[in-house]
Amino acid sequence: MSRKVTILGSTGSIGRQSLDVIAACGMEAAALAANSSVGLMEEQARQFRPSIAALADEKAAADLRVRLADTNVHVLGGLEGVLEAATFSGADTAIAALVGMAGLRPTLASIREGKRVCLANKETLVCAGPLVLEEAHDYGAKVYPVDSEHSAIFQCLEANRDRGEVKRLILTCSGGPFYGKKREELQRVTREDALQHPNWSMGAKITVDSATLMNKGLEVIEAMHLYRMPAEKISVVIHRESIVHSLVEYCDNAMLAQMGAPDMRLPIQYALTYPKRVPGPSTPLDLWNCGPLTFGAPDLEAFPCLALALEAAKTGGTAGAILNGANEAAVGQFLAGKIGFLDIPAKVEKAMSQVRAVQEPTMQEILDADAAARETVM
Ligand code: MG
Repeated sequence: MSRKVTILGSTGSIGRQSLDVIAACGMEAAALAANSSVGLMEEQARQFRPSIAALADEKAAADLRVRLADTNVHVLGGLEGVLEAATFSGADTAIAALVGMAGLRPTLASIREGKRVCLANKETLVCAGPLVLEEAHDYGAKVYPVDSEHSAIFQCLEANRDRGEVKRLILTCSGGPFYGKKREELQRVTREDALQHPNWSMGAKITVDSATLMNKGLEVIEAMHLYRMPAEKISVVIHRESIVHSLVEYCDNAMLAQMGAPDMRLPIQYALTYPKRVPGPSTPLDLWNCGPLTFGAPDLEAFPCLALALEAAKTGGTAGAILNGANEAAVGQFLAGKIGFLDIPAKVEKAMSQVRAVQEPTMQEILDADAAARETVM
């Protein structure tokens, strides 16, 4: 399978695993973009020889330019550099794996070039789902999910899409590192505790989101937009083992599940190769030794972030952008050691009550909602 791929966020967890898949499947890394990790970007550029290596941080880009002076890799800096990588005509595919709202503009830029966009940046859809998908339609860009849950649903919907037979989408949730803890116990958990995820190794922001269960809430909103399902038809089930990646329940009560080892390289690869399946680097699932699989209900009282996200999903409009903006700012403060774990939902709740949601927003209204929500967290 020959694809020429731009990776937006190549030095992050998804970016690095994407390069594994690209190497194993004989694809080409045409352009790489990241925020500021000079050392790793240099290594990736030397190994994969992309046409472009871009770093959003100008100083880091200047450093990279010196380091790569003996190669013919074109080094770019700043948001403009990242956007150039996102729109590079030598790539037919973009993996959108930048973290947070910062991924919105580069992702949209790739969409406007009509590229195949493998979407790992969930914040983009949470904040601006309908607008982003409308642009994808207008520019003929195909958007495929990289998030493991959404990839699972995508796979379970194949052959049965759009026939009105889907009763419910069910997202599985590992429960995170604090599964089983009550509110009082969560009062005392630290940044280090929150950064220990039982099954997946990911970046700091998403790991904290997995600990608060906000990650699952964001995924509910993402699924709502990707599969045009109302919030009421999306459920969350706790599944500690992360083997069933999500399910679709049909009107005849049949449930289809997609299973696999917890390895992001499979959903990344499927987004790249769909509708084909090819052998790849992901770990096979050993059913005979994986132990029992368990399922249960989430505890919305101990994990209010999930309840807040479900509320934002029902409200719609800019509620997703408000929820996300406040959460990004609050998680930033938590990671900086400025606030406690339970302050994250408190701050998100405050933003949701102070900033009014607007229905069918324009992009400007979405950006305004994001800014206003962050303002309440300061
Ligand atoms: Mg996920």
